[in-house]
Amino acid sequence: LTQLFRPLDMLGMVYRTIRQGLIDMAEMFRLLDTEVEVPDRPGAPALVIRQPGIVFDNVVFGYESERMILKGLSFEVPAGHSVALVGPSGAGKSTIARLLFRFYDPLSGRILIDGQDIRDVTQASLRAAIGIVPQDSVLFNDTIGYNIAYGRNGAGLEDVASAARGAALMGLIDRLPQGFDTEVGERGLKLSGGEKQRVAIARTLVKNPPILMLDEATSALDTRTERDILATLRQVSAHRTTLSIAHRLSTIADADTILVLSEGRLVESGSHQGLLKIDGLYAEMWARQAAEAETLGEAAE
Ligand code: ATP
Repeated sequence: LTQLFRPLDMLGMVYRTIRQGLIDMAEMFRLLDTEVEVPDRPGAPALVIRQPGIVFDNVVFGYESERMILKGLSFEVPAGHSVALVGPSGAGKSTIARLLFRFYDPLSGRILIDGQDIRDVTQASLRAAIGIVPQDSVLFNDTIGYNIAYGRNGAGLEDVASAARGAALMGLIDRLPQGFDTEVGERGLKLSGGEKQRVAIARTLVKNPPILMLDEATSALDTRTERDILATLRQVSAHRTTLSIAHRLSTIADADTILVLSEGRLVESGSHQGLLKIDGLYAEMWARQAAEAETLGEAAE
């Protein structure tokens, strides 16, 4: 009988793997808005992670040859540190994320992770090392447990429970009639934006990647939920190399380093306080967002 079930088991595993792969890719495409792939170098080894620092070394890149988006960009995210990318719309923040995942190769310059050029390692190992917490997550029509577990093939109940604790989801799970076995998604329980975000965080915790890429919390969340989620993300990203893409500056004010991009170049970098002192582009963006927040606050009263 076991003989009979083994192929079925295998089939289940293959199905799960494919489904997981597809959803991971779907999340990446949604975040990174791209469909292009570059091939692995023949015989490329896997990325080896000991100290997962990221280096962009004089990276030049454009989608079209007549328009360069990154014009010789250099920066470093030291292992275990948290760096936030800010800049006006169209400055190239998402492009940096796409290059890090190697959806494209730089025209010149290099991108290194832990000292290895990402062109020289397999994309599977590269992408396995980086966890994404997107601002808007895809949920399966399946149980909440399944939705967390597919962060990593072979994740067990204890891994799922521990990830749910890390993502501060246990309050919700305990309130659900069937706990982790509750169906969610279109045909099940509808989760709020904040709860979906926490499922995405739990998924990432199950995957346990050394590098995290955060697409900043969505403006669809109310301020209190956003603050709570940020606190959770801060715990999750502690001791992990973290690159955040930020649109609203309030969410990244406590990053170790903030990089300010403009027209494909790094124009300022430093801490929030340091950048305010420089009184340049960051200070200007900060003042503008503070004024906007005030107007919105007044409108809400
Ligand atoms: P935002 O804050 O608005 O998300 P961003 O800083 O993330 O902006 P990118 O998405 O990196 O900016 O885009 C940088 C520039 O590259 C933009 O001018 C954009 O129009 C252009 N661009 C992005 N994707 C492509 C593409 N696939 N083909 C051609 N041009 C592109």
